[in-house]
Amino acid sequence: MPELPEVETIRRGLEELIVGRELQAAEDDNPHTFPNDKQQVQNFLLGSRIINVERRGKALLINLSSNYSLLIHLRMTGQLVYIGLQRFGAGHPTKSLINALPDKSTRVILTFKDSSKLFFNDQRKFGYMKLLATNLVEEDSFIKKLGPDALSKELTAGIFIKRLKKRKGSSIKATILDQTILAGIGNIYADEGLWASGIHPSTPVGHLTDDKVVKLHVEIVRILKLSIKLGGSTDRNYIDAGGREGSYLEFAKVFRREGQQCLVCDNEIVKIRVAGRGTHVCTRCQTIE
Ligand SMILES: [Zn+2]
Repeated sequence: MPELPEVETIRRGLEELIVGRELQAAEDDNPHTFPNDKQQVQNFLLGSRIINVERRGKALLINLSSNYSLLIHLRMTGQLVYIGLQRFGAGHPTKSLINALPDKSTRVILTFKDSSKLFFNDQRKFGYMKLLATNLVEEDSFIKKLGPDALSKELTAGIFIKRLKKRKGSSIKATILDQTILAGIGNIYADEGLWASGIHPSTPVGHLTDDKVVKLHVEIVRILKLSIKLGGSTDRNYIDAGGREGSYLEFAKVFRREGQQCLVCDNEIVKIRVAGRGTHVCTRCQTIE
């Protein structure tokens, strides 16, 4: 599952290559991946131009000149590959990112007027590319449930505190992973953010001081931005805009470092289970309040 920095990296790479291009054809092999009415595709997708590419948490929105949008969720195994004069592939790391396409993982092919193509590949078919009116995006069942994006400017420290406190009795890790509270945080960034702010992942939200919560907000934003700068993080190798593998995990301070020494106190990093997820923690730096 890609995390926010990978999806942001895909967004930036795609936006550089597809904005202004006119869509000419759309083919798909699966109604779950491309759950769109043929007439709507004909009327609002074909013949429209790409205006921009946005990100909402871990979902992408390709906005079209027809006032429709394509809402894309990559889920477990989705990837997007653009092939034109340049090639750009990002998402689930398989050979399809570099091999000839279409292949057996290809679910949707969008062809532009200049003959360049955007392939949506998805081995396990959990992802989708949904066409909907742009003014109905906020009403979409998935988008509607999303909390503010972890990197949005509207998410001030005050709002961050307020949103987390909706889950006073829950562990802080479960709370920041909850996409309805905050959109975009997955397992890597939860562990890294909690370690950097000295908070044990099992701590109930209600036990944290506002200062601690503000510190967590600052660290999450810092780490997400660092990861984007490094080309998207890599829970096993996500591949960035230029086909390079992201490098964040090389810089991870606690994630997947169980058995190694804490970089601050030399205590051994341990792996425990919190919120149903493998969780990496230094029990000396991160105490339960
Ligand atoms: Zn430590």
